[in-house]
Amino acid sequence: MTITEHPTTAPADTAVADSAAALDAARAALRARLLADGVLIDLGSPGLYGRTGVFERVYTAVDAAAVRSQHDLDAEVLRFPPVEPLAAFERTDYIASFPDLAASISGFTGDDRTHRALLAARERGERWESFLQPADLMLTPAVCHPVYGLVGDTVPQEGRSFDIVGDSFRREPSLDPMRLQAFHMHEFVHIGTPASAEAHRDGRIPMMRALLESFGLAIDVVPANDPFFGRVGQMLARNQVEQSLKFEFVTPVYGPDHEPTAISSANLHEDHFGTSFGIRTADGAVAHSACLAFGLERITIALFAAHGTDPDTWPTEVRTALAL
Ligand code: 5GP
Ligand code: ZN
Repeated sequence: MTITEHPTTAPADTAVADSAAALDAARAALRARLLADGVLIDLGSPGLYGRTGVFERVYTAVDAAAVRSQHDLDAEVLRFPPVEPLAAFERTDYIASFPDLAASISGFTGDDRTHRALLAARERGERWESFLQPADLMLTPAVCHPVYGLVGDTVPQEGRSFDIVGDSFRREPSLDPMRLQAFHMHEFVHIGTPASAEAHRDGRIPMMRALLESFGLAIDVVPANDPFFGRVGQMLARNQVEQSLKFEFVTPVYGPDHEPTAISSANLHEDHFGTSFGIRTADGAVAHSACLAFGLERITIALFAAHGTDPDTWPTEVRTALAL
């Protein structure tokens, strides 16, 4: 598989090409440093890494600080496995918007004969996954997905808030260490009225920003658009920006000359999940929802990029903010 992050540039457009090449070089340099300094371990597939003790130490501190910052929410804690039933995945409409990022689980359901055919194909050095059958399970792409099917058909008028952390899988292989195929988000989700959902998102943006800045990261909060698939997707992305549904907390991991990277996001779903999952507030209106997502690996790697790969040498204020 070719791994490309950039649209092909016209030959005349050398400045753009130079900048893209410089960005690729910066990404490769950070990746090489994280591997050489024993922060990450290459698993031989782009965007999949093993993690060492030093990574885990910072990652755990980031997660704990995120939880402390949302303590006043008194959110209900929920944890889910990294896979979700196909039926639940269906109701999120994810496949309509992001078919290229979705991934499903397959299993072997054949008999001895099919197994022999599989082994023969394998022996010939051929791909054998086509002998597996879809298992009605999808890898979870966003950790808040399972909650909407679990709250029943009514939430109280003041809404309900949830603390959810888990695995996300998005099939976008890349050599950029900021883009992983398997990563974790810590989400703080609210399901309630239009006003309480909006207040959840907007009221917490300043505290999220302050938290990330306390880690010694330069942060900008910008309106964002998701990489919706295809031509219809371009329209959805424009809508998302025009209606200011999503904000991202971005930091210039690769320096001021390149696009900063989103390390967290604040999303308003309006009635999207309320409608799909049939959730109403006590007054009978369709529930609205919002979620705040801390991208745990991205924050952790942004910290290594900004302060170096030895946390013991990081500025005192940063270590204090992280309780490291
Ligand atoms: P979103 O649902 O907004 O796309 O993702 C929420 C957060 O998860 C992002 O702000 C980001 O921090 C993190 N995230 C999204 N995609 C990736 C990715 O490919 N790799 C990593 N490490 N984190 C990601
Ligand atoms: Zn979410």
